[in-house]
Amino acid sequence: MKELIDRLRDRQTLTKEQWIQLIRGRTPELSAYVFEEARKIRHLHYGHEVYVRGLIEFTNYCKNDCYYCGIRKSNTRAKRYRLSRQEIIECCEMGYELGFRTFVLQGGEDGFFDDDKMAEIIQTIRAGFADCAITLSIGEKSYESYRRFYEAGANRYLLRHETYNADHYGKLHPPGLLAADRQQCLWDLKEIGYQVGTGFMVGSPYQTEENLAEDMLFLKKLNPQMVGIGPFIPHHDTAFAKEPAGSKELTLFMLGLIRLMLPKVLLPATTALGTIDTKGREEGILAGANVVMPNLSPTSVRKDYSLYDNKICTGDEAAECRMCLANRMKSIGYEVVTDRGDSLNV
Ligand code: SAM
Repeated sequence: MKELIDRLRDRQTLTKEQWIQLIRGRTPELSAYVFEEARKIRHLHYGHEVYVRGLIEFTNYCKNDCYYCGIRKSNTRAKRYRLSRQEIIECCEMGYELGFRTFVLQGGEDGFFDDDKMAEIIQTIRAGFADCAITLSIGEKSYESYRRFYEAGANRYLLRHETYNADHYGKLHPPGLLAADRQQCLWDLKEIGYQVGTGFMVGSPYQTEENLAEDMLFLKKLNPQMVGIGPFIPHHDTAFAKEPAGSKELTLFMLGLIRLMLPKVLLPATTALGTIDTKGREEGILAGANVVMPNLSPTSVRKDYSLYDNKICTGDEAAECRMCLANRMKSIGYEVVTDRGDSLNV
């Protein structure tokens, strides 16, 4: 099995069968080896720096009904909110003071924020924060909409493919939401010129090792600038409330493998990873990740952006989150930096 890891490190590619074999055959010893090799590559390209992105969760209204997600439209118990344009700008102002040079606007697919409103918000941020990257994470849109946002000043887009396999995708989403449509969005975003981030949940219901192998092959083919993966965590108001969460162990293993496959990719240690284990994000960095995404949303709405249960950092002020993460990174020998943190994977 070690030969497969060496092969991946040296050639950055494996066949589907090899991926399955490696994922199935993982052991603590092999994981330790993956992490060690992943760290070497990460240090080669990104040193001991950790990039931060300020996450602004600006709406939890959503027209979609993804079975795993706490803000799905049929969750009538979700307390819905929207931030005003002014509130969004205030988040950016505070973030800028705290050293953030990337703002991530994330939200449900909320029709209230139509293309005109989004373009206006993007233009306002672009005008006020010329040296910052603007990242959008607002779901599936038309080519035209994506282009409009890009022209308004957005640079990056996060859209997890969730799972590559169409059958598996169909078990996680209602009819009408299709894996192929989501994947097409990613190709569109790339073509327009965005730095693109995609990714998947680890341990989502019905996921097999074969599905994960297909996810890896898709990542290789798309060659995105960022890859966000995190464990699936059940939300009590969804159909998957009783499903087990994805494991930290497999999430870390996959992070390490992604670093070996896409050496220069930006790889966040996600909030979900920090939720299933208090040291999850530190371990993510030590497995090859190089980005953290503290929350800049106002504390008054934090707990309402509830995608899964027990989400961390819902009570902390932005400054506290930033400080806490800087200390956590320092404790393992890494340094949070004030930088746009563009991907070297171009
Ligand atoms: N609406 C946008 C979209 O579709 O990309 C952005 C918001 S969406 C809630 C952000 C991500 O949250 C999804 O891509 C999904 O992977 C993750 N997510 C949702 N529910 C989750 C859960 N129960 N456990 C872990 N991650 C979850």
